[in-house]
Amino acid sequence: MAEDYDIVIAGGGPVGSALALGLRDSGHRIALLEARPRDAAVEDARVIALSHGSRLVMERLGAWQALAEVTPIHTIAVSQQQRFGRVELSAADAQVPALGYVVSYVALQRALADAVAGSTVEVMNGCSAREFTSNADEAIVGVECGGMTRQFHTRLVALADGADGLQLARVEERDYRQSALVCEVISEEPHQNRAFERFTPHGPLALLPTHRGWSLVWTAQPDRANALAALNDADFCVELRAVFGATLGAFSLRGARQVFPLMLRQARRPLAPRVVLVGNAAQSLHPVAGQGFNLGLRDAWELAQAARDARDPGASATLNAYFSERRFDRTATILFTDTLIRLFSNNIPIIDRLCGAGLAALSSIPPAKNFLVRRMMFGARG
Ligand SMILES: Cc1cc2nc3c(=O)[nH]c(=O)nc-3n(C[C@H](O)[C@H](O)[C@H](O)COP(=O)(O)OP(=O)(O)OC[C@H]3O[C@@H](n4cnc5c(N)ncnc54)[C@H](O)[C@@H]3O)c2cc1C
Repeated sequence: MAEDYDIVIAGGGPVGSALALGLRDSGHRIALLEARPRDAAVEDARVIALSHGSRLVMERLGAWQALAEVTPIHTIAVSQQQRFGRVELSAADAQVPALGYVVSYVALQRALADAVAGSTVEVMNGCSAREFTSNADEAIVGVECGGMTRQFHTRLVALADGADGLQLARVEERDYRQSALVCEVISEEPHQNRAFERFTPHGPLALLPTHRGWSLVWTAQPDRANALAALNDADFCVELRAVFGATLGAFSLRGARQVFPLMLRQARRPLAPRVVLVGNAAQSLHPVAGQGFNLGLRDAWELAQAARDARDPGASATLNAYFSERRFDRTATILFTDTLIRLFSNNIPIIDRLCGAGLAALSSIPPAKNFLVRRMMFGARG
């Protein structure tokens, strides 16, 4: 059975859903394919730190108000284990209400999906894109829905199927040899809307404030991350305090620990005529500094702007304008997160010491601090 659409979005995760929302009243006929069946439970312990810029985009998409349990971040303390260097970034200095907002991946996904469900976009849950072909005139997407094969003819295919999706266009893939252990913890001291990023020789450890306590993202070599996940609760909390320090008192654990392997992946673009990749399908980053979704949301927003008023949303002129608009932000954000990891996750004493000195210096140079804050709030165009 062949079906015709102007735009087919493969992947209804947060980025694909945001793209669908950005295009909802464009007049284009849009299909959003999501492999997961509708109402399937999403088991994901991740929280996402949304930047101030992402809040503004989410507001424009009409999905901000529906977000459940959003915790604003008022300060971020960046430090290095066994070094004195420390810098504190604050919303007051940056003259914004918050440096960022912490929300669970599940709540983010739900708010965006609910907003799409109330629009003209045709959402097809339990449908996986399997393959596509394209030429200058059209693209054809082969889809499997509940055991049936379907074919969608379209003018634009947006692949938003995440890092584990079709993986059609890898140009660079680098294993960080790190995994992120994610779980909820509670501390003796309340969070007071503070976030912490602590660099250790094994990888960064982040504590993000949530409605229930903290979300911990503890990065380490895969063996160590798995060993930490296997510790009993009490030993895990002792180990956490040993690495993080005594600032927040003793920790206790809430819920399960989940481990995510970490890679840098960047896709070649343009991949094929009438095909574009957005979000983690285009690039997946180390979670240090919480940039991945924020970058993907900017992809979705800019693609929606380029395609919504175009008579032919998949025309090469439309897509080339989009690629050149996104190139700088994408390259700079990947470089930013990758450099942080290369500099801080190492055992080379001279670099280690320089990083400590760098943090101390950053603390006393307001323009440099301001640059860092704007980069984290708005991306490379901030
Ligand atoms: C531990 C951790 C912490 C993070 N913290 C932050 C943070 O604080 N801030 C931040 O900005 N980013 C963060 N990120 C990154 C963020 O999670 C991702 O960038 C974001 O989830 C990407 O969204 P996406 O929609 O592109 O992909 P995904 O979230 O992977 O969604 C892809 C969707 O596509 C569907 N799908 C897959 N294959 C197909 C197919 N063939 N057909 C149809 N549908 C398909 C999947 O079911 C899924 O729903 C973090 C990542 C990790 C691992």
